[in-house]
Amino acid sequence: MKLTNFVNGGFQEGQNADFVPVTNPATGEELAEVQRSTAPDVEEAVKAAKAAQKKWALVPAPKRADYLYEIGRLMKERKEQLATVLTKEMGKVIEEGRGEVQEGIDMAFYMAGEGRRLFGETTPSELADKFAMSVRAPIGVVGLITPWNFPVAIATWKSFPAIVAGNTFIWKPATETPMMAYEMAKIFKEAGLPDGVANIVFGSGSEVGTAMIEHRDIRVISFTGSTDTGRKVAELGGRYLKKVSLEMGGKNAVIVMDDADLDLAVDGILWSAFGTAGQRCTACSRVIVHKDAKEQLQQRLLDKMDKLTIGDGMDETVKIGPVINKKALEKIHSYIEIGKQEGAELVRGGEILTGGHYDKGNYYAPTLFAGVTPDMRIAQEEIFGPVISLIEVASFEEAIEVNNGVIYGLSSSIFTADVNRAFKAQRDLDTGIVYINAGTTGAEIHLPFGGTKGTGNGHRDSGVAALDVFTEWKSIYVDFSGKLQRAQIDNEA
Ligand code: NAD
Repeated sequence: MKLTNFVNGGFQEGQNADFVPVTNPATGEELAEVQRSTAPDVEEAVKAAKAAQKKWALVPAPKRADYLYEIGRLMKERKEQLATVLTKEMGKVIEEGRGEVQEGIDMAFYMAGEGRRLFGETTPSELADKFAMSVRAPIGVVGLITPWNFPVAIATWKSFPAIVAGNTFIWKPATETPMMAYEMAKIFKEAGLPDGVANIVFGSGSEVGTAMIEHRDIRVISFTGSTDTGRKVAELGGRYLKKVSLEMGGKNAVIVMDDADLDLAVDGILWSAFGTAGQRCTACSRVIVHKDAKEQLQQRLLDKMDKLTIGDGMDETVKIGPVINKKALEKIHSYIEIGKQEGAELVRGGEILTGGHYDKGNYYAPTLFAGVTPDMRIAQEEIFGPVISLIEVASFEEAIEVNNGVIYGLSSSIFTADVNRAFKAQRDLDTGIVYINAGTTGAEIHLPFGGTKGTGNGHRDSGVAALDVFTEWKSIYVDFSGKLQRAQIDNEA
């Protein structure tokens, strides 16, 4: 199958006939070939998006929302098929694939509801016989750049608010996972979304991504990916005075206090650390444990880690799928040497799995380091694989300090039975998302999603907050006094 760009409501080849293979990370099987587009393809897509946008902005928001209801309905009808495509191209186990598609469905219906809200403000004026209000206005053509680890959910977090707010968009999916984007293009078409509202251009970040950021008619870049890439996007976007919304990496921690329900904590850690093979932005990669709970927690973690099944995510019994590609495998593995050299104790895993079906895919053993100190690289840098670092602390205050002592600020969690500690933790943990007695993952689409410090630049995906990225505030004053009234001057009378 050849995956071509989706421009102005139709599938079409890019200007150069270059295609690259899409590979199943579980089996090495070639699933499809995807277009490697170039800057002129971006130009064509922007032309279509720009032409469509003026008309689209005039469609009443509740009517724009009707398309989202239809998109959500189609996604729901095809949930199993979409989850299968997702698992095959990305590798996460099928149960998680279904969960991710569900997240997209939820987002469709939630954002469709915004079509009848899109609330602004009406406020009193300081002057007599004058009316004041603010409304959310569409911005124009927006650019969406997404990573491979959530090939559909993140795209829906961005494209659905963009649609309901009256924008048109160019979406560049990650090269590793274009098949979900292709499926979404078919759904956009079938839902009857007017031509040019949704456009998808496949290709590399350096070529297509750069062309999008540099294009003067793309007014917003909504990016999710690594912090290194996000920095480049922001630097280049800054030159063009783009509105740039960044959701980037994480180094998320679970804190386990001495009064915690340890079995619950173990379940939360395993789900957060090894789900999606540790390749979630919210993955738990640090466990900060009170010294009095450390031995027990480590033992219980190891007991359950040893029972985890690793393999092709299409097998319903498998708990951990492959990592995305060989490069990721090597990156993860390089951190094992780094950790050992820094003096951490490798207690479990630390190896690329080989033999039998492992040889065909990219499988990494669930890994646990103990004796980790907060300053070690394995406790500071995003590894993006199934690797946990156990860090021992002597107090609640130290736990908070260690949690906050990284450049990232996406998600954090604490297991404790003490309600006072729980409330102090939600106040003092400096991440954009905090969980009490649950792992670091499990965001729901109606709340803002994003992080502080090196994880983000103050914007949020998801929830009503997502509308802030895709709308401009417009303040409107209507003076019905029939005379000149000067603000700040004539209000004395
Ligand atoms: P990545 O930064 O390599 O790529 C992300 C996207 O940016 C891809 O589409 C890529 O092609 C594109 N890109 C690459 N170079 C570019 C450039 N110079 N200009 C414009 N675009 C460019 O990230 P990835 O490996 O695909 O995803 C994993 C990363 O994403 C992890 O760091 C993870 O934590 C992060 N992530 C963050 C969130 C969040 O909401 N905070 C969610 C999921 C993933």
